[in-house]
Amino acid sequence: MGAVSYHDPFSGSAPDPHWDPALGPIDPFLGDPHDPSSLLDDLDPVEPLTETDRREIAADLAELEEFETALTPHGILGIVVDCGDCGEQHFFSWALMAANLRSLLGDGRTGIHEPAAEPTPDAYVSWDYARGFTDALASQRN
Ligand SMILES: [Zn+2]
Repeated sequence: MGAVSYHDPFSGSAPDPHWDPALGPIDPFLGDPHDPSSLLDDLDPVEPLTETDRREIAADLAELEEFETALTPHGILGIVVDCGDCGEQHFFSWALMAANLRSLLGDGRTGIHEPAAEPTPDAYVSWDYARGFTDALASQRN
């Protein structure tokens, strides 16, 4: 038997553009603007928290506990947040807010759009208000 190959890629039809005989198969999407893997960049996966994020959330949790301790005796039941996503105000009891922060630390998701059951708007204050109130109370003690 001879050593003649009948599979010479350069005989007959045009060479396969995706086949470099020196390197083997090349990336079939090389230079293709419709590379399907680029679609992955358009999805919006939950970003893993950075260490800075984690520290900030942990600091928020600590601050939230101060708020609860300082404000509950004054009839404040939680935090109200102007939601940038849906434009509504969201009311969080202290416990719900803490749970949301803890779930952020856990898996990066929250139930922020779940409405609190029949909130009393007067009993909820913004985070900044709670901070000011707590600071004022603290300064009165000093
Ligand atoms: Zn919302």
